[in-house]
Amino acid sequence: MHDDIDRILLDEARIISGIDSIAAELTELYRNVDLTVVAVLKGSCVFVADLIRRIPVPLQLAFACAESYRQGTEPGTLDLRLLPHGEEVAGQYVLLVDDILDSGRTMEAIQKELFDRGALDVKTCAFLDKPVRRQVDIRADFRCFEIEDVFAVGYGLDFAGKYRNLPYVGALRPEVFNASLSGGA
Ligand code: 5GP
Ligand code: MG
Repeated sequence: MHDDIDRILLDEARIISGIDSIAAELTELYRNVDLTVVAVLKGSCVFVADLIRRIPVPLQLAFACAESYRQGTEPGTLDLRLLPHGEEVAGQYVLLVDDILDSGRTMEAIQKELFDRGALDVKTCAFLDKPVRRQVDIRADFRCFEIEDVFAVGYGLDFAGKYRNLPYVGALRPEVFNASLSGGA
């Protein structure tokens, strides 16, 4: 698996210090309100686990499931498969957490659904941000790292369902996704 990585973009120590810096702000912001953290599956699973353990305030955890990437690296149709129950969201301050803000379509669509379900406030939190790829008018209220326009894997982010368990964020070797797109392993 490590052999498929071209270069490491963020190592484990940098990841943790990036999370620590936003966690301090989030702790202050949400100290005295009813907070629900909504994590977008599957990509944010590793990030949200590290993040919530650094926000020592009472909170609920809920999940949404969105798929926008099929086999390739370009966004496909957005498919929202699971959303939090009304009672997890209505009257709550919501922090919507995703692995990466790319075109912005996923966060925009889920944020709208959460407001429709009665959230008082929905702030967006992205582990990674690729602002040059944005297609809709949305920004991360909180983000750990801005990255260049490369396809990132690891720390929850996948390619064709794999690499989520890498402990760092890396750029895939181009021949790996070219091989996969043309039907190889
Ligand atoms: P958006 O809706 O903002 O275009 O895309 C968000 C979703 O696309 C993310 O939740 C993530 O699953 C996927 N995505 C966007 N860019 C990347 C990337 O560089 N690497 C990986 N693995 N997934 C990405
Ligand atoms: Mg995702």
